[in-house]
Amino acid sequence: MPEQPEKWPKGVQWTLMHAHNAGQVARIRCGYCNIKRFYKPLELREVIGNVTVDQVRAKVRCERCKKKEYMDAELFHPVGQELETIRFRRLVEIRWEKRVIWKDE
Ligand SMILES: [Zn+2]
Repeated sequence: MPEQPEKWPKGVQWTLMHAHNAGQVARIRCGYCNIKRFYKPLELREVIGNVTVDQVRAKVRCERCKKKEYMDAELFHPVGQELETIRFRRLVEIRWEKRVIWKDE
């Protein structure tokens, strides 16, 4: 199934906001760990901005192996019972931690 509607105008990027409005779900997978996680596009947007799925793929890092190069991301429409069986990884909070860095002169 295409990520965006067939009649979507050329050159207009399909962003996480569009995905949210369309009721899509984001699936992010690490091919190295073989872990699949499901996210709500709106919550991903909170974290990485209103980007396209290609940009999501480029920005995410696996929580387990910390690698970026095996990540895959896609947006899809859950069908039938799928939505009831998906366990979403929900955003709890975004913490901005203060880090202190020292340097010897
Ligand atoms: Zn991994």
